[in-house]
Amino acid sequence: MKRIYLDYAATTPVAPEVMVAMRPYFSAKFGNAGSLHAFGQGASRAVFLAREQVAQALGCRYKEIIFTGSATEANNLALRGVVRGLRGMDYRGPGKPRIIVSAIEHGSVLETARDLEREGVDVVYIPVNREGIVDVAAIRAALDERTILVSVQYANNEIGTIQPIREIAHIVHDFNKQILFHTDAVQAFQYLSCGVDDLGCDLLTLSAHKIYGPKGIGLLYVREQVIGNRLHGIITGGHQEFGLRAGTENTPYIVGSAKAIGLVEVTREREAKRVHKLRDYFWTKLRAIVPSAELNGSLGVRIPNNLNVYFPGRMTSDFLIALDVAGVAASPGSACQAHVAEESYVVKALGYSSDRASQSVRFTFGRGTTREDLDTALRVIKNIFKKSS
Ligand code: PLP
Repeated sequence: MKRIYLDYAATTPVAPEVMVAMRPYFSAKFGNAGSLHAFGQGASRAVFLAREQVAQALGCRYKEIIFTGSATEANNLALRGVVRGLRGMDYRGPGKPRIIVSAIEHGSVLETARDLEREGVDVVYIPVNREGIVDVAAIRAALDERTILVSVQYANNEIGTIQPIREIAHIVHDFNKQILFHTDAVQAFQYLSCGVDDLGCDLLTLSAHKIYGPKGIGLLYVREQVIGNRLHGIITGGHQEFGLRAGTENTPYIVGSAKAIGLVEVTREREAKRVHKLRDYFWTKLRAIVPSAELNGSLGVRIPNNLNVYFPGRMTSDFLIALDVAGVAASPGSACQAHVAEESYVVKALGYSSDRASQSVRFTFGRGTTREDLDTALRVIKNIFKKSS
């Protein structure tokens, strides 16, 4: 049985070009980038070139790229690091420092915000509308003199909706230039360009494994004025990553993530168009097979590889198992949630019932997806519905 992977938002295979770029740094060029001898200098140069390549893609300076062990860690660094930076500045604001996040952020932002709340930070969770778009007026209303950071993702990992990042950045900085604006662009980067000046963000998170790079590496863009001043590291030890992230540089993965980012830069538009067509094809056919199916989140303001579908009366876990048995891999809202049999907090945040939040499935497409794969998946879905009707 040929297995069909429709879960590209969970992770992607490493691109062959990325494998080739990484390979020497596991063996022949194994040096520690912190060592002074020739082995170390070889690794250090590779890390430098990778940093430059990433900086070019984001339109920033190489010193503004901090490699981390994952996007989860980068998001932790953004939120916790800004709070720690504040303590360094001996914050004497009029009350608890405030952080503003959207209600549909990835767990690595949301859980970190909740944790900071327990540590005494005031956190405001901004709602989204039925379409899955954040309430910009509520962000404006939540800004006050205690606010230190606003964090809103560029594209959602469950429903793919795209947030008005430029508009939010303007609102935040118009209110007070000192407030830092962070965006988690992990799901967006493959389909939307992420020039940091264009977006107006001070901090931006990426993950390599969502863009055909290796798992276990992410990065945080940090605007130069913020480094060492407003943001403090959260992992102590050595002085790697400009003192913001201790730990020996993972040279092969750093090289691999830069290569993956470079590949996205040259294929983005073409791939976005291709996947968009496939997605629309799948959705049209799917609705013909299951007329009661409904989309979660806006179809128009959404990254092109995502469909999150409500199948009334069909529990997510049962449906996913039936799909998997027939060779089709899809997902509940997110991979992190897949082992926890619970309803999607994102679908609930759109204002829908618990039933809908536990009867929805995410299909995400990518470089390996073909029309034939989708036809097979559609046949599988048709069979599942036929058997149970
Ligand atoms: N942010 C978003 C929007 C994501 O989709 C993910 C992964 O699912 C992450 C952050 C975490 O990425 P990583 O797996 O690199 O920790």
